[in-house]
Amino acid sequence: MSVSKRLYHENMYRFAEPEPSYWEATQGATELGAEPLARDEQCEVAIIGGGYTGLSAAYHLCRDLEVDVRVLEAGHIGWGASGRNGGFCSIGGSSLGKDDMISRFGLDETRKYYQAQVEAVELVREIITDEGIDSPIQGNAELEVACSPGAFSEVRESAEKQKRLLGLDTSVLTRDQFRERYFDFPKLHGAATLRPTFALHPMRYLRGLAAAAERHGALLHPRTEVLKWAKEGATHVLTTSGGTVRARYVVLATNGFTPEHLLPAFHARTMPIISAIAVTRPLSDDELAAHAWQTESPVITSYDLLNYFRLLPDKRFMWGGRGSSNGAPAGAAKNFTNLVAGLHAAFPHWRDVDIEYRWHGLICMTRRLTPTIGRLDDDPSVFFGFGYHGNGVNTSTWTGKKIAAWLGSSRSDDTAVPVSLPAPVRGLSGRFPLPSLRLYYVQARIAMFRLTDWLK
Ligand SMILES: Cc1cc2nc3c(=O)[nH]c(=O)nc-3n(C[C@H](O)[C@H](O)[C@H](O)COP(=O)(O)OP(=O)(O)OC[C@H]3O[C@@H](n4cnc5c(N)ncnc54)[C@H](O)[C@@H]3O)c2cc1C
Repeated sequence: MSVSKRLYHENMYRFAEPEPSYWEATQGATELGAEPLARDEQCEVAIIGGGYTGLSAAYHLCRDLEVDVRVLEAGHIGWGASGRNGGFCSIGGSSLGKDDMISRFGLDETRKYYQAQVEAVELVREIITDEGIDSPIQGNAELEVACSPGAFSEVRESAEKQKRLLGLDTSVLTRDQFRERYFDFPKLHGAATLRPTFALHPMRYLRGLAAAAERHGALLHPRTEVLKWAKEGATHVLTTSGGTVRARYVVLATNGFTPEHLLPAFHARTMPIISAIAVTRPLSDDELAAHAWQTESPVITSYDLLNYFRLLPDKRFMWGGRGSSNGAPAGAAKNFTNLVAGLHAAFPHWRDVDIEYRWHGLICMTRRLTPTIGRLDDDPSVFFGFGYHGNGVNTSTWTGKKIAAWLGSSRSDDTAVPVSLPAPVRGLSGRFPLPSLRLYYVQARIAMFRLTDWLK
């Protein structure tokens, strides 16, 4: 493991160890045939990363184009963020404000981006249904709760703009309307809903997608870390922990865990950030009633440093948020203490409820603040997709599909450009300046958000 070349503490890259998440503990019975690579092999497309991006690319390449594909994953399949997230299948994927996106890319391309986000949510639903994946589909909207009167004005204005300019399905609810239908908590000042959205079981979806990719012919190799990436003529040579893979095309699908040292083109392109989750024991009916809880839809707060939460099918409460440590044990423990303190402050009636699971992982931002999807200008046999800004369940699945279609068309026509990619996601995002200071940028940004949220 090339620990020293990674941005965070080595604890964040222990590929041999699964995160102790609720999703790991309840991953279901889906069998995978995946085996670590054990000798030198070749294939047409090698995909680095066995999360949603890599598996969706593999699934679509094999199902639609019968391409010979291998997925190389350093941990077990789904070791990364795809096996650990909050399971919100919702519209987002970007940290660029809507007004900024419109002024940079124009209204038409911004609309196209958001319509693609809607398409991406429906794509996940379709895959779950078509492939008979054993994941619950909970709720039917993302609820954004405003935590101050000023925040409610902003949430209302944003929801109206999303509807008017971008054609999204939003609605606004006053505090009384919201607590009658969804739940109540002391900071509630109103809310907005955004559809389509639902909540799923991230690991069951992941394993179902992996099994479907295998059924269509993809070969998945867990515990196969790519350690070196070289080129011999037109052939990529990937040296892994279990042998060498020679391939005509490579897809880089490693998002917040991107090994930037493997290829200079990807150096300093990502800003990984810790996101952490705590899950309680199952709540009783009386405990749920104490906060008038009556929804399975996923929820976010209006804070800059937002929290995300939902009720799980077995009535456990899941609560997530960002962390600013470097992932070393002491900092990670402090993150979890702050996370749980936030849960107790927001839902005081659940202060004494035991937390039974806690885990974390890396999400990924880009300098452009939008996902970055494309192929390298100086080597069009390399495709990439990452930078979903903490909203990758739908976006990474959609990205994998788009990469598959683009790669497929480029096999017969090397100049093909995917006109269906909206401008905000097209091409490689810029490098972060002074990249070794990226952790300090994250810490400064989180500290600033804490302050602005406190002032609200
Ligand atoms: C705690 C948390 C909560 C989140 N909640 C949500 C949510 O509710 N909704 C939402 O939409 N998004 C959420 N996200 C974000 C979402 O999970 C990600 O955007 C998405 O899973 C990214 O998928 P991916 O396949 O691109 O990357 P990942 O799933 O991170 O997969 C990348 C893989 O690359 C592998 N890898 C790295 N280096 C190598 C190498 N050298 N060789 C081989 N393999 C390598 C890693 O092991 C990893 O498994 C959350 C993320 C976290 C961490």
